[in-house]
Amino acid sequence: MDDVQNVVVMGKSGAGKQPRVDFLIRRFNLKQLSTGDIFRHYLGLFKEFAYAGDLAAFYDSAANDFIPDAAIMEQLGIIGRPGADDIVLGLKATYYVNQGLFVPDRITNALFESAFRAMDFRGAVIDGFPRTREQAEFLLNLMQREGVKLDAVLLVENEDELIINRTLGRRICKSCGELFHMEFRPPPHERQNECLKKCDIVQRSDDNLESLKKRLSEFRTKTRPAIDYLREQGTPFFPVPGNLPNYSKEAVEASVCEVMGLAPSGAASI
Ligand code: ADP
Repeated sequence: MDDVQNVVVMGKSGAGKQPRVDFLIRRFNLKQLSTGDIFRHYLGLFKEFAYAGDLAAFYDSAANDFIPDAAIMEQLGIIGRPGADDIVLGLKATYYVNQGLFVPDRITNALFESAFRAMDFRGAVIDGFPRTREQAEFLLNLMQREGVKLDAVLLVENEDELIINRTLGRRICKSCGELFHMEFRPPPHERQNECLKKCDIVQRSDDNLESLKKRLSEFRTKTRPAIDYLREQGTPFFPVPGNLPNYSKEAVEASVCEVMGLAPSGAASI
């Protein structure tokens, strides 16, 4: 595989996708396209708005949908304000993400397509998408329509118990996105007992036990069928271990190279 156009990285929440994504980016000169990052962007827009009420008030359980956008805007007092549509989208994303629920396919597919289009549908390590069978069908159809290929799907495998421990200790640097773990990889500033806020090291709003358990259950019920579908369609598929006995950047690289049949270093060809 010399001319790699697009790769998908799948796996449970907290399985260890990011280090594998980083390797694929370096190896094939690709760019990350992460639906989680897209949603966090919208979460940020809504957070800036500093709404303190209960988001359930915007959800109509009988209709199983949000109340109309205009009604949301009215309640928030943002009718006619620039960026009001994005604040509403941010509210909806916050509602799902913080509960550990997948954002509905309709919203996710549209945001994904627009971000992928901005890359001319090429050169992406697609991370966190597809997560449902509908999204998987959408992705393959979109790629076929645009005449681009999906070269490989990397499935990062990991046990729920390990994931729970790893995820609850996970911290992220707000400024550069670097990932840390309070036990296995503490941020250097924290070792010196410096202020968490000053160092911009935060915990993701959805990294709590309740939300994580929900995400793991969403994976079992919704993402497994997406994996089955991609395999049935004959997409080149590579399961890779998310937990390594001796974890290092080199070990991650070696394990990905091994499953994908890549030379451990040197020219980008598989
Ligand atoms: P993690 O790091 O836990 O794997 P991500 O950062 O990929 O999670 O995504 C964070 C949250 O954003 C998910 O728990 C879910 O609420 C939402 N999300 C991300 N990608 C998708 C998707 N493809 N479909 C639906 N919801 C998604």
